[in-house]
Amino acid sequence: VMASMARLQEEKVRLQEELLGLQEKLAARENDEHSRSLQLQGQQVEALKAKLLEQAQEIGRLRSELGGTDVEKHRDLLAAENERLRQEMKACEGELRELRSRPCQDCAHLQENAELQERLAQLQREAEEARAKLAELDLEVQQKTNRLAEVELRLKDSLAERAEEEERLSRRLRDSQETIASLKSQPQQIKYIIKTVEVESAKTKQALCESQSRNQYLQEQVGMQRQVLKEMEQQLQSSQKTVAQLRAQIVMYEAELERAHGQMLEEMQAMEEEKNHAIEEAFSRAQVEMKAVHENLAGVRTNLLTLQPALRTLTHDYNSLKRQVRDFPLLLQETLRSARAELPPPPPPISQAIEEVHSTNRELLRKYRRELQLRKKCHNELVRLKGNIRVFGRVRPIMKEDGEGPEAVSAVTFDSDDDAVLHLLHKGKQVSFELDKVFPPQASQEEVFQEVQALVTSCIDGYNVCIFAYGQTGAGKTYTMEGTAANPGINQRALQLLFSEVRGKAADWDYAISVSAAEIYNEALRDLLGKEPQEKLEIKLCPDGSGQLYVPGLTEFRVQSVEDINKVFEFGHVNRATECTNLNEHSSRSHALLIVTVRGLDRSTGLRTTGKLNLVDLAGSERVGRSGAEGSRLREAQHINKSLSALGDVIYALRSRQGHVPFRNSKLTYLLQDSLSGDSKTLMMVQVSPDEKNTSETLCSLKFAERVRSVELGPVSRKAELASWPSQEHLEGDSPGTTAPPSRGHASPSPGQLSGRSASIRRKLQASG
Ligand code: ADP
Ligand code: MG
Repeated sequence: VMASMARLQEEKVRLQEELLGLQEKLAARENDEHSRSLQLQGQQVEALKAKLLEQAQEIGRLRSELGGTDVEKHRDLLAAENERLRQEMKACEGELRELRSRPCQDCAHLQENAELQERLAQLQREAEEARAKLAELDLEVQQKTNRLAEVELRLKDSLAERAEEEERLSRRLRDSQETIASLKSQPQQIKYIIKTVEVESAKTKQALCESQSRNQYLQEQVGMQRQVLKEMEQQLQSSQKTVAQLRAQIVMYEAELERAHGQMLEEMQAMEEEKNHAIEEAFSRAQVEMKAVHENLAGVRTNLLTLQPALRTLTHDYNSLKRQVRDFPLLLQETLRSARAELPPPPPPISQAIEEVHSTNRELLRKYRRELQLRKKCHNELVRLKGNIRVFGRVRPIMKEDGEGPEAVSAVTFDSDDDAVLHLLHKGKQVSFELDKVFPPQASQEEVFQEVQALVTSCIDGYNVCIFAYGQTGAGKTYTMEGTAANPGINQRALQLLFSEVRGKAADWDYAISVSAAEIYNEALRDLLGKEPQEKLEIKLCPDGSGQLYVPGLTEFRVQSVEDINKVFEFGHVNRATECTNLNEHSSRSHALLIVTVRGLDRSTGLRTTGKLNLVDLAGSERVGRSGAEGSRLREAQHINKSLSALGDVIYALRSRQGHVPFRNSKLTYLLQDSLSGDSKTLMMVQVSPDEKNTSETLCSLKFAERVRSVELGPVSRKAELASWPSQEHLEGDSPGTTAPPSRGHASPSPGQLSGRSASIRRKLQASG
């Protein structure tokens, strides 16, 4: 192709040269003769034509050789161009012929010549373009040949690969052939297997027979089962029918039930209404009754007020009578003596007089007993009206320790009109509390004692009394109970009062006063007056069956004067102090008890009384921070907390007349059980600090006070309570000691055992009867 292309190009170049020559000749011919030049021209044109033809042929041949697409297109274009050129050439020929036929005219030829030249130039340009295109084609052809070479290379590679593949395949073929050959050698073995199969097939046939028979049997069974199934289905159908019937019945019953339920509800509603109505009626009736009871109570109160002066005059009368009775024998003797002196022979009327005197005497004694019973009854009534449990509050003064200036402002204020009310300013809020009585800071020890002395003296009459000082450490508990040497507290004043009272009654009564001092620390009871204060004491039930408790080994000192009691206190203090490193701290974490027992004997009647006065300085009620306390301090705090709340619970239960009083929850309440139950009297002195820093503890103490105080009794329970008031019931009868009074002791262990108080009353009455 390349060669032909090159040739074609050469041809073209030559053609162009010839064309140029032609032009030159044409120009020469302008100058030469027309005819000759024309002839020449014609010859040349002829030659050119032949050459062009040749060229066209050559191009056709080349085209067939190449067979390319782009190249072909260009070639076609070139061919068209050639064709055009040929036509132009033909046109030129025509013109030449015309020129030959026509006589030459210079101007016309010249013009034509010019046109021809122009055309020639154009042709030349076109030839140039064709050449450029040819060059482009050359380039393309070059690229194509390059690609062809690449393809050839790749073809070679693939050929090589295929040869390899063939090699591999032939190898495999050989292997397979080998395998086939080896396989061909196996038929021997296969034959053996077939044989064994043939042998086994007999056995298999037998098994098949067996299983066929079995199959038959099973089919029979299945048939039977089907029968049974059919029967059961029938049964099921019948039972379904019954179920449907039963369902219908159930629906019917349910409807009936619903109806009945509706009726019942209606009835219930009616009943409820009736009940409400009845309750309302009963309530209004009860209110009316209550009003009447209240009126009664008011009457009793006024009665009591009038009774008291009467009682006083009666007592006075009785005392003078008693004196008269006592003096009577003397008087009689004197009279007798003087009479004897005057009248030597004793006349018979004297013995008669003596008889009369005796009878008067008996009458007087009877009256005296009646009087005694009346006094007791009045006292009981008074106690009942006041309540057996009283709660007082005492606020200590602001002290140097509380700080000076604005810090020392009291957070506690009082009501000038009501001495039972106290206000506490806590966190900017004022909280008010009502107790039975409140002592302000300026209240003296004497004033405080005046309020409690009635309680103390009732101990002489055989009552058990408890006075507790409650409050946080530093609130004045010890100050109230013990006081200072210059200004003693309740303990000493109570004993002094008892001494003086006893002295006043010495003409008729023999009294013995004894004291014990004990301490409860970490739930262990210790004797502060004993020789071995370390020893832990136990609380035991009296073996005489009276139900009373006692502490074996607790030291009791008989006291007769203030000097005696001072000695006892000192001894107790010394004992307490030697047991601990820091007395102040220790005393704030233990309960200190002073137990005064007053035993009396009425010489004229033989009546015996026993009263106990328990004076308790409780452990500090402050709450110990849980985070700070540990070890022994935490244990102490837990014990204190337990015993104080047990005390609160007991008082609460007693005041609300609960059936069960939890005396056994702490040593303290268990020890004081006799003195807290029955018709014993209790005073809770709640000590508070007025300091602002202590308001939260003060609040706690006052809440405790309110809790033990605030139990109000309804009229019914009060009635019931009145009904079981043993001393009263008993004393109203004229023949004492014949029947045992019902026990009012809340914790009396069994119905057969009497509480301490009622037992002592019984003893008194038996002695008097
Ligand atoms: P507590 O026994 O509750 O820990 P204290 O009785 O030891 O408290 O009292 C703490 C301090 O306050 C003591 O110095 C006591 O003298 C003093 N104090 C308490 N109450 C009064 C009071 N009413 N008048 C004067 N001083 C008091
Ligand atoms: Mg104290």
